[in-house]
Amino acid sequence: MNTPTSLPDQKKVGMVSLGCPKALVDSERILTRLRADGYAMSPDYEGADVVLVNTCGFLDSAKEESLAAIGEAISENGRVIVTGCMGEEADAIRAAHPQVLAVTGAHQYEAVVEAVHTHAPPSQGPFVDLIPQPDIKLTPRHYSYLKISEGCNHSCAFCIIPQLRGKLASRRIDAVLREAEKLVAAGTKELLVISQDTSAYGVDTRHETKPWKGREVRAHMTDLARELGQLRTADGTPPWVRLHYVYPYPHVDKVIPLMAEGLLTPYLDIPFQHASPKVLKLMKRPANEAKVLDRLKSWREICSDIAVRSSFVVGFPGETEEDFQYLLDWLEEAQLDRVGGFRFEPVEGAAANALPDPVPEELKEERYQRLMEVTARISAAKLEAKVGKQIPVIIDDVGEPDEDGDIGATGRSQADAPEIDGAVYLRDVPETLAAGDIVTVEVEDADAHDLFGVIAD
Ligand code: SF4
Repeated sequence: MNTPTSLPDQKKVGMVSLGCPKALVDSERILTRLRADGYAMSPDYEGADVVLVNTCGFLDSAKEESLAAIGEAISENGRVIVTGCMGEEADAIRAAHPQVLAVTGAHQYEAVVEAVHTHAPPSQGPFVDLIPQPDIKLTPRHYSYLKISEGCNHSCAFCIIPQLRGKLASRRIDAVLREAEKLVAAGTKELLVISQDTSAYGVDTRHETKPWKGREVRAHMTDLARELGQLRTADGTPPWVRLHYVYPYPHVDKVIPLMAEGLLTPYLDIPFQHASPKVLKLMKRPANEAKVLDRLKSWREICSDIAVRSSFVVGFPGETEEDFQYLLDWLEEAQLDRVGGFRFEPVEGAAANALPDPVPEELKEERYQRLMEVTARISAAKLEAKVGKQIPVIIDDVGEPDEDGDIGATGRSQADAPEIDGAVYLRDVPETLAAGDIVTVEVEDADAHDLFGVIAD
């Protein structure tokens, strides 16, 4: 007899989650709450009593994607509740899709859960009340996002996140560490620390201290990094811990030795966005200081393996050929390991829209192509230098045997965060290999973004 996955009259909720990893964390939290209230999850539109669409409203293209997803959910199911960043624009959503049942904004967990209760009241009963309440994770079990704060105190000209999500609100450090400990105990091998501005963690709470494991710890990025470095997985090794959205404030220097000691993954995601001082000033970027190249150099002296990833925007209003060339020259010197490029896109409500001298679309495209060429060349050379070396790789996916019985697998090196960086493709892996395993790989080949290899004996 098959075990039923839900009770007969249990209400089911479908979820479409769009946007960034932060939105994914919100979706996980909402689903966890709903599960605790007795709801089951529906993997498809058909079986759902109500469908939640967690939207992204950052760029106009993301808004279009969100509206399209809402439209699809309405035509496939008909009973749709909208939440997430685009929920702040309820009028635009209702104008496009008057049938939506409710619209709530980003991080309004209570409001979205209440809307589900109203439109698909939970089943009551002794069995439902006894349902265990595990946390729901939308990311694979071997890696997890750890959100440490919401909102942001900056006012970058191209960004409306502070309007959407409000000022910086840091979580208590003991709550963050408890969540991290729980995730690792449940099998997470890699923690991805996320926020809008990880370096600013705790600024709003004046870095309040909380007791943790018999000592006082501050809500501060360096304390957090040190404590996360103390965690151990079931096999006694530290989990990989990646810091995302780090601005190069001076205290970032203090986490580099933890990387050298193997307590923190030697990886920093720093969204530089540009290099030209003039453009950075127009963008109103935080921690915009001239010494970044020197800092990169000294970080590499302390931890030679450190991988720095960043993203850059080309075609920001007022960006001249000289500014753009400055960026390319800077990149040649900085030798970043991973780079994401974006063409500037005006976001409704952003201050940058009022700036003079917009860059024509064709020029934006041309600069984007040039940026990608330079960064692909740098990446290819850096990856080529790894050929012949042995590196740790975390396995994401193990394939099926081919006609010869050979099995391939996909993983990532410490320089690759999930979803945004490259991959390591493995040949001839044993069939016992599983997602989340960390193995030593001999690198045999490389292209511009990925590595190829085999598990070392
Ligand atoms: S630091 Fe700037 S880009 Fe990042 S969320 Fe804050 S305002 Fe937006």
